[in-house]
Amino acid sequence: MDIRFEGKRALVTGAGKGIGRVIAGLLKDCGAEVVALSRTQSDLDSLEAEIGCETVCVDLTNPDAARKAAEQAGPIDLLVNNAAVAILEPFMGVSVEAFDKTFAINVRAMIIVSQVIARGMISRGTGGAIVNLSSQASKIGLADHTTYCASKGAVDQLTRTMALELGPHKIRVNAVNPTVVLTPMGERAWSDPAKSGPMLSRIPLGKFAQPRDVAHLVAYLLSDQADMIHGVTLPIDGGFLAR
Ligand code: NAP
Repeated sequence: MDIRFEGKRALVTGAGKGIGRVIAGLLKDCGAEVVALSRTQSDLDSLEAEIGCETVCVDLTNPDAARKAAEQAGPIDLLVNNAAVAILEPFMGVSVEAFDKTFAINVRAMIIVSQVIARGMISRGTGGAIVNLSSQASKIGLADHTTYCASKGAVDQLTRTMALELGPHKIRVNAVNPTVVLTPMGERAWSDPAKSGPMLSRIPLGKFAQPRDVAHLVAYLLSDQADMIHGVTLPIDGGFLAR
């Protein structure tokens, strides 16, 4: 199976680091024109030099700036809503600031960017495909991850409602739900062996995911080969959720 995106234009949010950066590179390798959106200009500059992409620098916590940035990306066929934050706090210590920031990026910006991009897909009548980055944390409780787990539960539900309403416009919407991936975000939460050991022991395949594992699944879900896959929240977790 050869996944090719020639003639397609893809927008990847949070493309500066981690999983989003690898997704942007893979989509480019598969022939897409890539627009990389992220918060830190130097990350975008190095990505542009590496893969040859267009870039949009924005802080997605600002809803007006998020809308303008999505409009700036131009006509988009493939959207990857990847940008997110994970702010770790015990439940009893959840702060209003962390809650608001988490939901502003992980959920609200996903809605705003998707609205702009889907509006373009609908007006052009071309359809398209959207993949939302969720997490295994949408499906189980993780200590110290209250706002993150809640935001990813919201992403799963958002994916389902988007699938219901955008499907008739030939826009497929799915989510992927990775286990731990040792990106900058993953390192912050899981580099301590006292935390990573028990988590690894619950993964039947005995390993964390690599950014490339996630990128391959995202590319498949964006491709015409996944033409009948719509509204799913797909674990990529080495069997963690099989227990
Ligand atoms: P990461 O290493 O922290 O990278 C996140 C990227 O998103 C960075 O480029 C970051 O830019 C950007 N971003 C964050 N806040 C932003 C904002 N306000 N505006 C614009 N861009 C922003 O994260 P990752 O591990 O690659 O995670 C990618 C996705 O996978 C997320 O949705 C995450 O929840 C999900 N996921 C990750 C794991 C894991 O273990 N790593 C597991 C399951 C799911 P700056 O650095 O400049 O802020």
